[in-house]
Amino acid sequence: MSNNKPMPVPTEISAPFWEGLKAERLLIQQCERCSHWVFYPRRHCPACFTHALTWREVSGGATLYSFTVTRIPTLPDFADEMPQILAVVELDQGVRINTNLVGLDESEVKVGMRLQPVFAEVDAKGNRLLRFTGLDKNADRLKVLHTVEQPAGDIVAPVRQIALDDDAALQALVSDEFSPWSNQVVVDQGLIDSFAQLSGDDYWIHTDPERARKQSPFGGTIAHGALVQILQSRMKLNLGYEITGFTNMVNYGSDRLRFPAPVPAGSTIHARARVKRVERVKSGTQLTLELNTHVVGSERPSVINELVILYM
Ligand SMILES: [Zn+2]
Repeated sequence: MSNNKPMPVPTEISAPFWEGLKAERLLIQQCERCSHWVFYPRRHCPACFTHALTWREVSGGATLYSFTVTRIPTLPDFADEMPQILAVVELDQGVRINTNLVGLDESEVKVGMRLQPVFAEVDAKGNRLLRFTGLDKNADRLKVLHTVEQPAGDIVAPVRQIALDDDAALQALVSDEFSPWSNQVVVDQGLIDSFAQLSGDDYWIHTDPERARKQSPFGGTIAHGALVQILQSRMKLNLGYEITGFTNMVNYGSDRLRFPAPVPAGSTIHARARVKRVERVKSGTQLTLELNTHVVGSERPSVINELVILYM
């Protein structure tokens, strides 16, 4: 679910800016009466209040006005971008833009440095965000979308965008059929020991390979069910859809959580999912995802998790 980063929603006023970025052009507004440059996009000039604003293309030449380095993601979806260099950049026209710096090591970032725009691809639909980098960097290389590596073996269906207000399309997601398998994760004794320490559940069946070899019905140690459940976060599911047009997404818990089969230490696991139900509720739209984790090659799931996700 890491590809659900919230995207800016163009408005009637800001649409030319976003359309410009798609064409790798930076467009900002200028006042016809007093020549004042305007950013963010507005309906009137903040200096003289006329509505006579014209979109003009500018070079994107800019100077770093201020920045900070964030190490904790504001949303889990941004964990893959940490640390992020959040910046206020001043275009040569004098307007300031909140943005990210890319392709720069923290040690290279200095207030006052010259910057060039990066028209960063952010999805397969051609949407781009405006970012900046140093003049000595290759902005063309930095603009390319880094696609998530796909697991070998399964054919991955293209991702369909589904708007949260599209009832028919949402209901059409409900299926008895599971998605292709996710990437694989190895559950070794080290991981199990770490979880035992963290959770306080250090029962011998998880943590004592010698005793488990003799006494466990499984012939060795097994992973905690809760560990296998939590490892679902490490698996990239191939759901084939992406829901758009929501402001917030909350993990609402599970309707049903079962551990039908053990995961012996050293096993490789993977997961697949299907949409079981989509319902409108008072607070938003509730999607129930049946997410099953299996030991690779095993028919029987080790974890069945009916995860409830609330979109608002
Ligand atoms: Zn003006």
